[in-house]
Formats: sequence, structure tokens, C-alpha cells
Amino acid sequence: MKGDFLETIFAMMVNKAPGKLPLFNYPANKISKWAEIILPLAIPKTYTYTIPEQHISKAKPGSRAEVVFGKNKKYAGIIKSVSDKKPDYETKEILNIIDDDPIIYPQQLQLWQWISEYYMCSEGEVMAAALPTHLKLSSEAIIVFNEDYGEDFSELDNEEYLVAEALLIKKELRLPEVQQVLDNNHFYPLIKKLIEKKVCYVWEAFNERYKEKKENYVMLNPDFNNEEKLNELLNNWAKAPKQLELLLSYLHISKTEGEVVQTPLLKKSGASAAQLKGLVEKNILFIDKKSVDRIENLPQKISIDFELSGEQKTALDKINLIFSEKNVCLLHGVTSSGKTQLYIKQIEEHLKKGRQVLYLLPEITLTAQIIRRLQKNFGGNVAIYHSKFNNNERVELWNKIKNGEVKIVIGARSALFLPFKDIGLIIVDEEHDSSYKQQDPAPRYNARDASIFYASLFNAKVLLGSATPSIESYYNIENSKYGLVELKERFGGIKLPEIEIINTRQVAASKKGKVILSPQLNSAIGDALTNSKQVILFQNRRGYSPFLICGTCGFIPHCNNCDVTLTLHKFSNKLHCHYCGSSYPKLITCPACGTVNWMEKNFGTEKIEEELENEFPSNKIARMDIDSVRGKTAHDSLIKLFEQHRIDILVGTQMVVKGLDFENVSLVGVLDADGLLSFADFRANERAFQLMEQVSGRAGRKGEQGKVMIQAAKITHPVLLFVHMHDFKGFYEFEIENRKRFFYPPFSRVIKIIIKHKMKEVVSEAANKLGDALKKDMNDFIVGPAAPVVNRIRSLYLMDILIKLPKDANMLKQYKRVIANHFNLLHAEKRFRSVVLIADVDPI
Ligand SMILES: [Zn+2]
Ligand SMILES: [Zn+2]
Repeated sequence: MKGDFLETIFAMMVNKAPGKLPLFNYPANKISKWAEIILPLAIPKTYTYTIPEQHISKAKPGSRAEVVFGKNKKYAGIIKSVSDKKPDYETKEILNIIDDDPIIYPQQLQLWQWISEYYMCSEGEVMAAALPTHLKLSSEAIIVFNEDYGEDFSELDNEEYLVAEALLIKKELRLPEVQQVLDNNHFYPLIKKLIEKKVCYVWEAFNERYKEKKENYVMLNPDFNNEEKLNELLNNWAKAPKQLELLLSYLHISKTEGEVVQTPLLKKSGASAAQLKGLVEKNILFIDKKSVDRIENLPQKISIDFELSGEQKTALDKINLIFSEKNVCLLHGVTSSGKTQLYIKQIEEHLKKGRQVLYLLPEITLTAQIIRRLQKNFGGNVAIYHSKFNNNERVELWNKIKNGEVKIVIGARSALFLPFKDIGLIIVDEEHDSSYKQQDPAPRYNARDASIFYASLFNAKVLLGSATPSIESYYNIENSKYGLVELKERFGGIKLPEIEIINTRQVAASKKGKVILSPQLNSAIGDALTNSKQVILFQNRRGYSPFLICGTCGFIPHCNNCDVTLTLHKFSNKLHCHYCGSSYPKLITCPACGTVNWMEKNFGTEKIEEELENEFPSNKIARMDIDSVRGKTAHDSLIKLFEQHRIDILVGTQMVVKGLDFENVSLVGVLDADGLLSFADFRANERAFQLMEQVSGRAGRKGEQGKVMIQAAKITHPVLLFVHMHDFKGFYEFEIENRKRFFYPPFSRVIKIIIKHKMKEVVSEAANKLGDALKKDMNDFIVGPAAPVVNRIRSLYLMDILIKLPKDANMLKQYKRVIANHFNLLHAEKRFRSVVLIADVDPI
């Protein structure tokens, strides 16, 4: 398979000159056809090419064609359609058809087109986001030396040696540079060989190389997942008592820790590798040498090993009933109500009908925890699509999904673009999560909303799930577009946590500065730790202090490229900008007045960690934010350490909020609720409610009722009152009134226009001009132009225009054309040519 796709990549680069074929002339009935081709570029339209006669039979929509675009740049474009109508302009010829079979299905082409129209971008931009790098290679690709190969080139032939040596010196080469080194035209097959020999690889933008974790995972033969069979095995054990001992400790570890790795298993049980081998030979255990993400070794079996509760059964029946009438169902279940079990039952039903299932999750919740759970029930039917996968793995998975071999895909946002053959169900878990929306670059799509369109192409169902549904989705229930199923009880009948709101104003009066740990929270943490429970503390700011001010003159350090204050980070001992990533040395004296009198206003996760270390010196404290968690494995291992109670207190940002199951947490603290409620955005209330309700859900998941303490200065804020009561319905009714009054979604559709340029005057001139032009066509709907709260990022000044349009599909289409037209008019003026114009549809 690997060879095949490499073959096709390089086939596209090699000119198979038509002149070499025997020449026949059919002047009488010459057939002519043209192909509309999507190029992976931000050009507004598709491009039409002539299909040379010898390629006509192979030119099918969804196949890639090698074409020249611009100054001799070659691209692998996707054929969108084939027509026998001659366009009224000159067209270039397709050089080659790369694929024997289309690499995507018509439904994917339809999805691309829908996204490009709805989210106001080009189909090429969607294509660039949708295809793995290896399937869209162009002459701009960069070949990178593989340092692991070393400098011993004795295995290489002369030409390979030349390129390898050049790579060793320069570390990376563009394809035209390789051509120069070789001085001939047939270098693509050579590069292919070098890649196969692992001398080099194709550079992949924005992705770290994914290193496979190679450990031996020990697993139980799924036959023994059945308790009866397992008991039978254990009770009738005759010989080899050491093996039995090993098996028992395997079962114990697998119960408490989930996954079992060979080395620690042997260590803990005091058994030998030979004894483990014995159990493998008896077909009781097996060993998976690959990482937890690579699971093709598991048997493609379905084994559901749990029973639904009464409430869950009723809910499942209701979902099926709704699906017989509607295509979208929202599962609103309080935290810990067992939504995942219902997902699993739904997956099983669609699998039995022979259809595929896509299970979407926010990237950060795509942890080993949930992957293990699905693998346990569906074995080798499950595949994971992760942004950290390398290109070979992605293409491999791409092909398996396309031919229907893989039945269930679990993945983040971009998994929506995989070439499903026949999808029956899309699950969008945590449907309210803002990470379903791509911010930058285009396509700025929302995977939840796009999945509803995509599902309609297959006549498939969409199951949205959340403990805190988005206002938009809930509104769609009220107007009967979606069905609603509720789970109001936590699984096992545990009560929702008790919530206490602590007034930090009263505390602050006796202490100076912002309160990190109020006495109430401090003593509650102490109590929890005394009872061997765990604690989670949430603060949505990372770093040590996000706001420094000179106590003498009031100077505040700002980023040179952005209009934001700098955050002091202790681990680096530097000031960091969270918008552009620049860092600056820590200031000793104030650059304005020269005194040494810094005051730290506000606090981030690092400072909380420090405070906890002082207060609870004998306990283990850990921090979870993007500074402490680099790469996927770091996140997973921190979760594992917390699961195994090797950490007592976990402090973190949003990361600790999202859908993790911890059994032993009795106390959750929200340290600064005001920080969540003070954003100037129409979604601020919604976001704050969701975050607080979700983080509360981490408390008291098994055993007893948990406790949540929320520190706030403005304790009468309505959102806090709804959180206090766990009252989603009340919050929804409060919020929907606000939205209605100010004509915000779901009552309108918002398009945010962002205007950027490095000169302040140019931005405001362009924004005003565009604003005036738009007002002529849609006066009532325009808000702005205005400078956003942070009005300079990465040395570019910003202005926004907000357009609130009525929810009428035809009108929306028409207005989008008007906007695009005004963009073009503005860019046609010379001084505005370099102004960046972005239309963000349904912004978050
Ligand atoms: Zn000063
Ligand atoms: Zn900056």
C-alpha cells in the first residue's frame, strides 16, 4: 500500500510524454473534454484545463490531475467535474492523471463546495485543509534530511549519494534544487528511493514529527471479557501456578490502571518473560507491540461489556425514535450521566447495518482514556485520526477509510474531511466546544455545523452530545429542527456537586492584592487531602502574573508587536506575549521611572502552583496548561498520574475542564470567576456558564457527592446564580432573551470582517471605506467599524466590522456575494492592495 501511494505521488511529477505513445490520427471523430480543477491555493475559482485524448478515460471527478499553474509551478489538483462543452477561453492541457481511482467520493467534493460557499473561502483552501500533505505534493515541496540516518552513505548509489550529501550539508532542499544537484530531469524516482531508504522525508508544515511510542502492551483476549468465561478459566486452573499469579496481577493492574505495559507488569508480579510467553501461547493474553494509537492488530470484534441503567435505556429508545423522524438529535446529559455508553450503543447499531461512524471530539479530549474505552468495545474496528500523526500514517488511514475497511473513526475537527464511503452516524461530543471552529487559516469552518450538512449527503444521523449545550443547538430544539434526549441523573445515582460561592471582596479587604486562595477554599483543600481525596483548581490564565505594573509611575510592560500586556513566566524567568509568542527579558528596573517597584496584578497557574506548594508542602502538586504539557504524550501521562493518584492537586487552565473522568476528586475550585465573566463578547455568558458547569462536573464522580467552590468578587452576576443551581434551562431562558433583544445568534447570522495592515492609518481608512460601502447595501445590519479590544497583533493593526444578518438562506447567499464584491473593489485600489481582509462566518 505504501509503495502504491508513493508511486502515484511521483508518477505525477514524471512527465510521461504523450509523444512516446504510438500515434494514431482520428481526425474525423476527435473527442474533446475539459476538466474543472480545484487547485490547493487561495484562488477564488476553479480552473479549467483541456484533457488530452489519451487521458479522457481516466479523468474522473475526485481524481488528481497534474497541471501547470502560474509560472511553471506544478500542482496536483482535484478534478471537480468533466465536461464536453468547450470554454470560451484558451485552456492549458492536463499533463497527467495521477490516480486510477478517485481519491475522494462525490460527497467530499460536495462538502468542499458547501464549506467554500458558506464560510466564504475558496474550494482550494478547503482542499488544502482536507488532504494529507502527501496527496497534495507540489513543486514547492521541501525535502528534509533525516538526522537519524547518520552520515554513512555506503548503501547509496552515485546519484543517491550526491543528493544525500547535499541534504547533509544544507539539511533541506526544494525540488528544483535537487534537480540542479543532479543535472537531469528524472529525479523524482530517485527521491522516492531516498525516502524509502529513510535518508530524507517530505517536510510537513506546522506539525511536529510524531514519534511512535514503542512499548509492549499486554492485553486480554477479548473472549475473556465475559465474566463467566473468565471465572471458568480461573476456577479450573490446574498447572503452572506462577502463570496464574501473573494473570491475576495482570487483571488487577488492568482494572486499576486501564492499560498494562509489559515491563512494569513483570516487575510488579515478580514473574518472568517466559511465564508471560506461556500465557500468550495459551491464547489468554496477547502482546501489542505498537503504541496505543496504532491498533490494527486488534481483532475486528464488537464486545459490549456493560449494561445500561434504566434512565439510559429509556434515553436510547428515545434517540432511536427521534432518528426515525429527524436527522439530528441532541443528547443533553449532566456530567457523568454516561453519555459515552449511549454513544457506544448507537455506534454498535450503525455498525451492524454495515455503515461507518465518525466520532468527533475536541482535540484536547482525544486522550488515551476515551480511545481505550472504544477499543475495548470495538477492537480493531476503531481508528484514530490525530493531528500528531505523520503523513504516512495519515495516508494509510485515508485509504482504509476510503475502502470501508475502517468502520469507526475517532478524531478531532479535521477528521470530517476523511473519505468515508458510507457514513451512517456522526457523533459530535461536547458539541458546545469552541475548538470545533477553525479560526485560522481558512477554511474557518465549524465542524459541528458542517457535519450536519455532510451527514445529509449520506442520509446519515447526527448525535450531538453535551452537558452544557450551545445556545444555538438548544434553540434548534425549540423550533423542532433537532430532537432532544435528556439524562438528568448521574450514572450510579451520585448527586451533582454542591456549589459554594465565595465572596473575594470580603477576603480582599483583610488581605492586600487579588485573592488566590480564600481561607474557605484553603481549609476545604486541607480537608480533602486529609481524607485522601484529590483536588482540581481552575484558572483561565497561564503563566505567573499576567499583569505587571510599576508601583511608582504606573508603567505597564507591553509587547512590541501586539497591543497586550506581557505575562511573567517563572519557568523561563521571562516576560511572554500570549498573542505572538515573543519573549522579553524580565525587567528589573522600570524603563520609565527607573525605580524597582513592580506590583503583580492578577495571577496565573504558575503562581497558584507556587502558593499551593507553600500551603501544602507535603502534597504532590501538578500544573496542566500548554506550557507544562508539550506534545500529546505529556498530556496523557499527566492524566494517567492523576488517575493513579500520584498527584494530589491539579492546577490548570481549560485543559482540566474537558471531559476527563477522575474517580477520586472531591473538590473543585474556580479561582477567579470574574475573569470569565468580564469579556466584551456576546458569547461571554455562555462560555462562562459552560466552563464553570463543566469544571464542576469533575467533582464527586464516583462514591460521594463532590464540592465546588467558586471565588468571585461580583457574586450577584446572574450567570453565577444559574451555575450555583446547576440550572441550564434557567440560564438558557435568561440568555436567549438577551440574544433576542440584541439580535444576536441564533436570531441572526453573524459575519465578522477583520481588516489588517501594518499601518494604522491604512487600516482605519480601509475599514471606513469598506464600512461605508457595506452600509449602502445593508445599513441596518452593520456594527462598526471599530478597533477590537486587542487592536494590534504580530505588528498588524486590526479593525472589525460586525454584520448581523437575518437568517434567510437566500439573503445570506446574496449578502456574501456583496461582501466578496466589496473586498475585490477595495483590493483593486492600489493603496489597499496589501490590506488583509478576512470574512469569518459564524465567528466564535
Ligand atoms: Zn515606573
Ligand atoms: Zn505580541
